[in-house]
Amino acid sequence: MTALSKDEILHWLREDNPARLAELFRQADAVRRAHVGDAVHLRGLVEVSNHCVRQCMYCGLRAANRTLTRYRMSDEEIRNCARMAVLLGYGTVVLQAGEDAALTSEWVAETIHWIKQNTALAVTLSLGERTPEELRQWRNAGADRYLLRFETSDASLFDAIHPRRTSSDPRRTETLPLLKKFGYEAGGGVMVGIPGQSYESLANDVLAFRNLDLDMIGIGPYIAHPATPLGNGTLRPEIAENEQAPASKEMVYKMVALARIACPDANIPATTALATLNRTDGRRQGLRVGANVVMPNLTPREYRSHYQIYPGKACVEETAEECNRCLNGQIHSIGRVAGSGAGGRGIFPLQAVNSLHQSALVQLHGGQHER
Ligand code: SAH
Repeated sequence: MTALSKDEILHWLREDNPARLAELFRQADAVRRAHVGDAVHLRGLVEVSNHCVRQCMYCGLRAANRTLTRYRMSDEEIRNCARMAVLLGYGTVVLQAGEDAALTSEWVAETIHWIKQNTALAVTLSLGERTPEELRQWRNAGADRYLLRFETSDASLFDAIHPRRTSSDPRRTETLPLLKKFGYEAGGGVMVGIPGQSYESLANDVLAFRNLDLDMIGIGPYIAHPATPLGNGTLRPEIAENEQAPASKEMVYKMVALARIACPDANIPATTALATLNRTDGRRQGLRVGANVVMPNLTPREYRSHYQIYPGKACVEETAEECNRCLNGQIHSIGRVAGSGAGGRGIFPLQAVNSLHQSALVQLHGGQHER
């Protein structure tokens, strides 16, 4: 099942029989349990700045959106978020922002350095497309992971919704191997149901997850933002109606399940965008169909609602403590446990560790018995 063919993936993406889909989800859940265990890793998200120089057709942070109140967090505010991550027992802090030139390479390096000096947190960056020199510098400063979703593997759709700054900009699918080469754990991923995105291109996305050997895979629904060309209908990529993949929660569950089966040991979050589509159960369902990570928000409340990549974002009213309590409750309610430590790819699953302890105990016991 691991070597899913493109035809099999396409078949599952078009499947709508609930009993057969339940079988797909059951398999994905079994792969998740066998390869990454029952631990759900919590990554504390800090939305450092919503300034952005780019004009992505889907994203509310785009430079041309004048309706957005812009903010940039101070050093002390970011440090306080890192302290809170430690207090709440998280293993990782994720620094995310628009492509903001005021977040200079030196400033980012110093921020990483402070966190690594003062905490045991793993540091994940999600700062958009920056130069190879910057990416290398930040890795040298101690950053552990970098998130850079490629959004869609369909190159012409990507170019239409994600204008390049210069024609020599590398594609995100080219930067991801570079990140791995620098020693980062590299995270890619896609939005599901982008106007113009076909079922077939989603199948190619799953193959791309595998070919890129991603360490982390973020999958969420596309959510229309009225202050963007794609969201207000000004940009309408052409596609036959029966080819267009829906931006539904079911479609995201299928993609999460297929990503898990294709990439058994990757870290896969149940995303906030998924929780936005299904507030009561989106994250839990994501965790049941292959996901093993959640990203509680640590951003100070006064900034939260301004980090509006899409409207109606789940959990913007909660404090960091409330978000933590709620997510821990959700994790326990489905019989899972909060992960401890940094939770990088390839960390031994909990059950494996437990059974190792068990056999070590048996050996120890047996040894004593013999003497
Ligand atoms: N500037 C960084 C971080 C962007 S926000 C970067 O570009 O990588 C992180 C993710 O939010 C994006 O990669 C995209 O997948 C998602 N996103 C942006 N706009 C969205 C929308 N309208 N609906 C759903 N997800 C969206």
